[in-house]
Amino acid sequence: MSDCIFCKIVNKEIPADIVYEDNDILAFMDIRPTAPGHTLVIPKKHFTNLLETPAELAAKSINVAQKIAPAVLKAADAPACVFSNNCGGPAGQMVFHTHVHIIPRRPDDGMHAWGGHETPAEEIKTMAEKIKAAL
Ligand code: 5GP
Ligand code: ZN
Repeated sequence: MSDCIFCKIVNKEIPADIVYEDNDILAFMDIRPTAPGHTLVIPKKHFTNLLETPAELAAKSINVAQKIAPAVLKAADAPACVFSNNCGGPAGQMVFHTHVHIIPRRPDDGMHAWGGHETPAEEIKTMAEKIKAAL
């Protein structure tokens, strides 16, 4: 897609610090890292987000994320990481080309995990039924 910043990176029209490349997948450093080592893994072909990405290409993206995460952690000297994917604007997606974040985490990094809410078991069960009905 011509106005997509990640397509421009794929096509080498704009620079990026690429750490991995094969026929289908590219991985490069996030320009505004949440933590040192923050890396993005993308399918080279443009899809808006993970929900729109063909299963095979989504799986390849995850496979590459799995493959390079140990190297990211080694380089960043971090003991853990978050794999994340923001799917849609309200979820925080800003670049509308499928990407998986690899974000190194450490115990003292000050980042907050998602908060949980005490919820009645019946409410959770009802939601499970709605999801199953929608599948
Ligand atoms: P999102 O919020 O869409 O899940 O994440 C988009 C990510 O892309 C952000 O973490 C942002 O810092 C990164 N990003 C945005 N523009 C560029 C760019 O031009 N180059 C690189 N390397 N990363 C970018
Ligand atoms: Zn794109």
